[in-house]
Amino acid sequence: MTTRRILALQDVVNRVPVALEKSDKKVSEYYGSDVFGMDAMREFLSEEAFDSIQNSMHQGTIVERKMADQVAACMKAWAQSKGVTHFTHWFQPLSGATAEKHDGFFEPIAGGRAIERFSGNALVQQEPDASSFPNGGIRNTFEARGYTAWDPTSPAFIWGQTLCIPTIFISYTGESLDFKTPLLKSLHAIDKAATDVCQYFDKNVTKVIATLGWEQEYFLIDSALYNIRYDLQQTGRTLFGHAPAKGQQLEDHYWGSIPERVAAYMRDFEYESHLLGIPVRTRHNEVAPAQFECAPVFEETNLAVDHNLLLMDVMEKVAIRHNFRVLLHEKPYAGVNGSGKHNNWSLATDGGKNLLSPGKTPKTNLQFLTFFVNTVMAVYEHADLLRASIASANNDHRLGANEAPPAIMSVFLGQQLSNVLDDLEKAVHSGKMSPEEKTKLKMNIGRIPDILLDNTDRNRTSPFAFTGNKFEFRAVGSSANCGGPMTVLNAIVAEQLVAFKKEVDSLIDKKVEKDEAIFQVLKKYIIASKRIRFEGNGYGDEWKAEAKKRGLANIATTPGALDAMISKKSLNMFESQGILNHREQEARYEIALETYTKKIQIESRIMADMVNNQIIPAALNYQKTLIENAKGLKDILGAAEFKKAADTQIELIKEISEHVTIIKKAADDMTEARKNANNLDSAKKQAHAYCEKVKPFFETIRYNVDKLENIVDDATWPLPKYREMLYLR
Ligand code: ADP
Ligand code: MG
Repeated sequence: MTTRRILALQDVVNRVPVALEKSDKKVSEYYGSDVFGMDAMREFLSEEAFDSIQNSMHQGTIVERKMADQVAACMKAWAQSKGVTHFTHWFQPLSGATAEKHDGFFEPIAGGRAIERFSGNALVQQEPDASSFPNGGIRNTFEARGYTAWDPTSPAFIWGQTLCIPTIFISYTGESLDFKTPLLKSLHAIDKAATDVCQYFDKNVTKVIATLGWEQEYFLIDSALYNIRYDLQQTGRTLFGHAPAKGQQLEDHYWGSIPERVAAYMRDFEYESHLLGIPVRTRHNEVAPAQFECAPVFEETNLAVDHNLLLMDVMEKVAIRHNFRVLLHEKPYAGVNGSGKHNNWSLATDGGKNLLSPGKTPKTNLQFLTFFVNTVMAVYEHADLLRASIASANNDHRLGANEAPPAIMSVFLGQQLSNVLDDLEKAVHSGKMSPEEKTKLKMNIGRIPDILLDNTDRNRTSPFAFTGNKFEFRAVGSSANCGGPMTVLNAIVAEQLVAFKKEVDSLIDKKVEKDEAIFQVLKKYIIASKRIRFEGNGYGDEWKAEAKKRGLANIATTPGALDAMISKKSLNMFESQGILNHREQEARYEIALETYTKKIQIESRIMADMVNNQIIPAALNYQKTLIENAKGLKDILGAAEFKKAADTQIELIKEISEHVTIIKKAADDMTEARKNANNLDSAKKQAHAYCEKVKPFFETIRYNVDKLENIVDDATWPLPKYREMLYLR
């Protein structure tokens, strides 16, 4: 019998790149044409409505109801001119994926006819019966309703034949049930805190935005192979698979020539992205075979987060046209690199100044150092919370696996800036500085070159690295909603800037001159946050030992890492910044634990299914062939000759039995461990049991299955192999 795998491989052999209609249009001619952006607004809105919307976009004010009616009517007219029939509120529940429920524009009217309608009410607010999204106990079923509310700061767009309106998702009692609401609040908090601090340097600053440029890593696999790997389908990763002889050792894939089929796919999803105004610009092969990356030009953080979520959806849908499946999981394959989503983050003023970019004068450099040191200090203060913000069952496989930053949070600054901070620490003293000392200090600061990019040694092993004019948070997982970690980062930096301002002001009140006061507080932070700075190799074991000495946490798995979400310090920080109250944050903690448990539970179940339905039968089948063969040899050979001829086969027969026995026992014990875990009475206990009692079986089972893969006849092995899945033409 031909196995499904062999049939699938035949499909793969016959694949050709999908030919794209060659368009001679430049990107600039169609960029953003499916977005209800400035151009569409100007064309379709009255001047009054246009101004009102602009206002709420910039100041975050609420759009008046009567304007909303007008905007809705115009949006509908615009969307209909592009063949759109439905609309949806597009939101980000805590399940991680985006959510949408499409409603038609048409409404039946008297006489059996219908008209198309879209009211301001429908635009501004909806009450989806969305009671099945994770809510961590915030919404008891009797008050199960939540509602979605328009976020005018992220423009509506058309995807398929549906007008999508970015919205927040909150409970009837006002608690946030999504990623977007706290993100928007954190952006507001950092705007306020950073604008206040900017007043020390530049009175013209009235607004500060956080900017985000993500880099999205992903794998591609031929859909024929994906379709017969149940583990990939249900868990996003391969639970079995022997390492291929050629993985990434030769480092020949990274930035290599992009395979034609893949290039066709990239062009296609980039085209779709550009219609949606997602500024993807960079593409390349990544380190692991069949791994790739794309990156956009950075944008305001809320928009960048929406764009990343939308992009992931676009990538998945477009992949199917090309007979690919895109794998966004953090670790689809063992033994080769996993995928991350580097979050490049900075702060910019309404005057267009990047606050994390050194300037040309001592004054602008002092401003730069202020934001720079405060960010380092914030990461120092809340390293554990930052770690928790990127914790997931998937990301556990990646962090610390010699390919991604370890679970220890540290900050990399580069030699040049490390020196600047060291100098500052020495030069400033708490007593009054002489005019000469001050001049010297300012001159030194003035010497920070405005372009550090070329000088900054790139440290790829740090979770949080300064890269010349921004920080790069490299520990974020590839499938994550960047909104989670970005909310934390904005929030902790906001809190830190508020504290900074308070300290500086109190010194100024004591008649310390402003610059000197700033210097003194910065010096204090430089000293306090030293432990978090690390310039060396983050992948090495020496760092683990060193970090331990420094007292930095190294929590390898999610259930433990999540504790930081509900520490007093974290709860107070979120509350003081007006981002999440205790109840909301505790609910998030519960959801994160439950999600972890469910993921491991699903992996464990699918593992047992595949072992019982696919692996053991294949092994026993092959064993049967060996047994029959040995019996046949016995029939035709004398005893002495038989022993010589059948030795290897008998060894193999025994080896198969041994592996099968171990696998079966481990799978049964694992089921038992699952039952025990399910009976525990708290989400925390369950998550720990799944992590510590269930997951360890994965390794035993996998090890033995992978051995069998190497023994059993290639023609009858049921699962696509690594060497097949990781090879793309
Ligand atoms: P690499 O890190 O691969 O060398 P770049 O430094 O050019 O590449 O940029 C990586 C990402 O950082 C891009 O998505 C880019 O848009 C983003 N980026 C650049 N400047 C900023 C900034 N000021 N704020 C946020 N993201 C930025
Ligand atoms: Mg980068």
